Amino acid sequence: MILFISDLHLQEERPDITRAFFRFLQETAVTAKALYILGDFFEVWIGDDAVTPFHLEVAAALKQLTDSGCKIYLMHGNRDFLLGKQFCRQAGCTLLADPTLLPHNGENILLMHGDSLCTDDRDYQRMKCLLRNPLSLFVLRHLPLKTRQKLAGDLRAQSRNRTRMKAADITDVNPDAVLQAMQRYSVRTLIHGHTHRPATHQLPIGQRIVLGDWDSHGWYLRLEHDQLALESFAL
Ligand code: MN
Repeated sequence: MILFISDLHLQEERPDITRAFFRFLQETAVTAKALYILGDFFEVWIGDDAVTPFHLEVAAALKQLTDSGCKIYLMHGNRDFLLGKQFCRQAGCTLLADPTLLPHNGENILLMHGDSLCTDDRDYQRMKCLLRNPLSLFVLRHLPLKTRQKLAGDLRAQSRNRTRMKAADITDVNPDAVLQAMQRYSVRTLIHGHTHRPATHQLPIGQRIVLGDWDSHGWYLRLEHDQLALESFAL
């Protein structure tokens, strides 16, 4: 069995989600061969040198699972793209590129966070280009820790004042971008998160499965005996 999750947005302010995730690791993921985390695992990540006891607790829980034989693969989301090798070492997991092709039964499954498919949100794509080029990443990683902590504090204050990101606040994927990505990589199955719109979409060329964000419910996709099943449970 292989499991896929995304958009847990783990943060100290939501201990209910962290508890549900630990329970998911112990009860569901423990029997899996591999767990794929497709981005926005953390609500915010300002660098591996800024880890708190909360982050270490999460890393230890992941490490416990990998020690028991389940491989964990982690893809960046738009909120935790500074997550680096040091955290992955602590958690025993492997960083995945976005996109990644997962070979399965003689064909490939395309794995993405999903934000790159939201091409209708021009402002977001412009900001992403600005923030995620190698030079910006270098600068961001080398800002003084104090500066990054202040940035994170501001972000947290903002999200406390606002209600949580609902699907309506996030631009949905563009159908042409989906088609292009699936054709470019010659796949019939695409799995992604980001949009907070969990669903299985049947397309003329295959299927697009959208993972859900963890809020009132937890979501995961199970791949077993060639069947893909999107599951949810109340927190
Ligand atoms: Mn996202």
